[in-house]
Amino acid sequence: AMRRLPYFCRGEVVKGFGRGSKELGIPTANFSEQVVESFPSDISTGVYYGWACVGNGDVHKMVLSIGWNPFYKNIKKSVETHIIDTFKGDFYGEILSIVILGYIRSEKNFTSLEALISAIQEDIEEAKRQLDLPEHLKLKEDNFFRLPECKPVNH
Ligand code: ADP
Ligand code: MG
Repeated sequence: AMRRLPYFCRGEVVKGFGRGSKELGIPTANFSEQVVESFPSDISTGVYYGWACVGNGDVHKMVLSIGWNPFYKNIKKSVETHIIDTFKGDFYGEILSIVILGYIRSEKNFTSLEALISAIQEDIEEAKRQLDLPEHLKLKEDNFFRLPECKPVNH
């Protein structure tokens, strides 16, 4: 998995490539290519959990997928955040702040849409459990989320 957790990241939400995540009931906010390229190159693909906040809004639990972008013939990574809450509308163009705290699983191929959806539902349940642990809950209050102008600092 990733050596440098927690990992803080902030960037603009852009249009994805319309794989229909929203239609599956699991919309994923995509980071711009620039943000993706700023990620450490040794980061493993797969599913992670952490905290996320849109603009200066509330901090929510999230699951994050880091994977290969089929649109670019799998030569570019995509980083997509599903915030575990319901929003009134889209927030394209807004600044998404996230902190990645842990790894759930590697990327998988699924034989059916039903299998994919149920795997993601399990990821979400795992993320919820993990994030209730005191060591993870404390990051929800991190100053990073209250200082939207400040650049993420990763050690
Ligand atoms: P795209 O292919 O453009 O990423 P998606 O179907 O993945 O389209 O939907 C993602 C968009 O849905 C996000 O960019 C955001 O504007 C909106 N959205 C609404 N609710 C959520 C949520 N809970 N988590 C992530 N994105 C959400
Ligand atoms: Mg998406």
